[in-house]
Amino acid sequence: MSTGVVDAELIGELTGIVGAAHVLHDPEMTAGYSIDWTRRFAGATPLVIRPGDTAETAAVMSSLAAARVPVVPQGGNTGLVGGSVPLAGEAVLSMRRLDGCEPVDELASQVTLGAGVTLADAQAHVAASGLSVGVDLAARDSATMGGMVATNAGGINVLRYGAMRAQVVGIEAVLADGTVVSHLAGLEKDNTGYDLGGLLAGSEGTLGIITRVRLRLHPTQPERATALLAFETAADAVSAAAALRRSVAALHALEAVFEGAMALVSRHLGVTPPVGSLGKKSGAAPSDDAATGGAWLIAEAAARTDPSDELGAAVEELADLVVDAAVALDPAARQRLWAFRENVTEAISAAGIPHKLDVTLPAARLAEFVDGVPDVVRAADPDAQPLLFGHLGDGNVHVNVLGPDGAEPSDAVDSAVLRYVAELGGSISAEHGIGTAKLSQLHLNRTEAELAAFGAIKRALDPAGLLNPNVLLP
Ligand SMILES: Cc1cc2nc3c(=O)[nH]c(=O)nc-3n(C[C@H](O)[C@H](O)[C@H](O)COP(=O)(O)OP(=O)(O)OC[C@H]3O[C@@H](n4cnc5c(N)ncnc54)[C@H](O)[C@@H]3O)c2cc1C
Repeated sequence: MSTGVVDAELIGELTGIVGAAHVLHDPEMTAGYSIDWTRRFAGATPLVIRPGDTAETAAVMSSLAAARVPVVPQGGNTGLVGGSVPLAGEAVLSMRRLDGCEPVDELASQVTLGAGVTLADAQAHVAASGLSVGVDLAARDSATMGGMVATNAGGINVLRYGAMRAQVVGIEAVLADGTVVSHLAGLEKDNTGYDLGGLLAGSEGTLGIITRVRLRLHPTQPERATALLAFETAADAVSAAAALRRSVAALHALEAVFEGAMALVSRHLGVTPPVGSLGKKSGAAPSDDAATGGAWLIAEAAARTDPSDELGAAVEELADLVVDAAVALDPAARQRLWAFRENVTEAISAAGIPHKLDVTLPAARLAEFVDGVPDVVRAADPDAQPLLFGHLGDGNVHVNVLGPDGAEPSDAVDSAVLRYVAELGGSISAEHGIGTAKLSQLHLNRTEAELAAFGAIKRALDPAGLLNPNVLLP
């Protein structure tokens, strides 16, 4: 079906729904909605619409559907796979104004939040009830509930609470034709048919516009202990990670930064890590070369009572693997250790425009992958620099690749790395989604039959193909 155009009549209709202040068509006003966080994906849009609630979202979608205008839903625009920006002149539906937080349901340990609520605001909203959101990630000040469900965001606590899909106990969404589907009772047991929340989680804006989400919350674990551990090899770090998962019941996060990425983030922060890899011990600057093998783990335990003895005992048992360790208990000291992990993405972005390959490996192939991937990258593009970090507790490695002087590397890098992942039995997208960036590689993980089923679901819910047409589905 051919798509329609944005004309004065449509703009007038939309202005009648959301008000003139929330229909933007001046290129200066729309520019920020048209480029993604990485600066790798940029387009242009004739129109940004900012509805204020579900009813306005439904009326807007009904008008856009009648005019056959394709639309990209956008939350905090922190997505890393080019899925949140208009690449072929689509309208943008910014969901940030749906930022209402309903009272916490303390009896059920649940809360209903607008799609535009940021993760940081959600965390602050539920904290007074002694409860926490199960997903946490470094983009918390901007990433929104709608975007986090739409990408099935992961982050640093997946090993304890699961990814975003596991938090969703209710959903409200607007379908492509403006129909509202709402199922927000949040009953823990509710086998009354298809799980629309589960289906929309990870749908990347292709099946519906999420307007409200009801989340399962978790008891806050206020007492924390954090260890930064250095290893000579990736294999040692992987073995230690497995041992910590087995022995620390209060394990809350288990993150990795590999040599190369550690050198970059240390320079970005202007601080040398307190523990050194490669047997050089404290004070030694990390190497720029990912292939030299050093690795760091950040292990955090969190509980109702002080977990430092449990974590300390587990670290002592790793004496054969760990070359250097630092443990922190108070918030400021813990934050200084976390800075080496939480600032890696920003440090890379400050250095240039990377290709971001976010992958999961089976535990048994993880060390082999970390050791092997620098050669795979350099075989595809000899000038490219691989930078590795990630959520090691989940087998999730972020392979970021920069070209010379911060330029983008060759596209050949992406296909070479993702083919290598698939050969080792891994997933080409651990938590960021497929977006535009990995669209052409989805066949590496999904069979023709699965892709046909995806297409059938898409056509059933969005027959005209108006919802985020550039992402996920080949
Ligand atoms: C510094 C940094 C660290 C990060 N760390 C992590 C991490 O640890 N783990 C992780 O998983 N991700 C991480 N990300 C990626 C990003 O934060 C997540 O993908 C997040 O879930 C995106 O939320 P958003 O609101 O910014 O969505 P956007 O970027 O605006 O959109 C992402 C996708 O969701 C769709 N979408 C947005 N809102 C809606 C809606 N209301 N209804 C339907 N579809 C919608 C968009 O169309 C797009 O396809 C990080 C990003 C940055 C910049």
